[in-house]
Amino acid sequence: MKDTIYTIPLTDAFKADDECPFCFIKRKLEQDAISFILGCAYMEDDIREVTDHMGFCKEHYKKMYEYGNRLGMALMLHTHYVKLQKELEKQLEAFSPSKSSLLSKFKTKNSPSDSLNQLSSWTKMQDQSCYICDSINKNFERYMSTFFHLITHNEDFKKLFTSCKGFCVSHFGDLMAMAETKLSSKQKEEFYPMLFSKMKENLKRIEGDISWFIDKYDYKNSDADWKNSKDAIPRGVQKLAGIYVQDPTFKEK
Ligand SMILES: [Zn+2]
Ligand SMILES: [Zn+2]
Repeated sequence: MKDTIYTIPLTDAFKADDECPFCFIKRKLEQDAISFILGCAYMEDDIREVTDHMGFCKEHYKKMYEYGNRLGMALMLHTHYVKLQKELEKQLEAFSPSKSSLLSKFKTKNSPSDSLNQLSSWTKMQDQSCYICDSINKNFERYMSTFFHLITHNEDFKKLFTSCKGFCVSHFGDLMAMAETKLSSKQKEEFYPMLFSKMKENLKRIEGDISWFIDKYDYKNSDADWKNSKDAIPRGVQKLAGIYVQDPTFKEK
């Protein structure tokens, strides 16, 4: 595998000194997707057809609203509404209520999933379907594949890995899941200990930063140096939840 369009952004993410290079990539992918769709892509028929069908998730409706371009958003919402009403019409036509019995009432109480009918499944699907999430996930998987290629073939990248600050819990999970299929047994023997010590050493480091942040509230330490603790909370949250709480709202330039 030669260098791909993913190699340079991935290498840059590992050089960014971020608490998790994959959070760094995901944020970039998300911002690119938002500015793409609200830039002028919503005017293209083939893309609009996909957004009409998929819609967006709660989080991304919010982020798109905050981004700006209200006219673009209104145009997308409008054709999505047209499509949604047609689909709902089909769903309503096909719907037939199940027979209620005393037994089924008991069942519903015990396990709500038993009570899912085709219409509630359909609304759940609307909730989960998102053009932006979909675009992020597709690209993210390619970055992950590129990571496993580089870590097993490129010595310079391996050095970058050893000097990075580890990963957030969620992306550590993604790495573990993908390593199972991407690496040979021999490669796993080398990769897992490297990854595990990265995780342990960096969780410990952040715990120390948070601890010093707390100690700084003691009047005895008021003149002491902040060391690395000033932004211990946002970095601490990122390591746990993979989000940048301190980021300003992403807005149209
Ligand atoms: Zn992450
Ligand atoms: Zn989404």
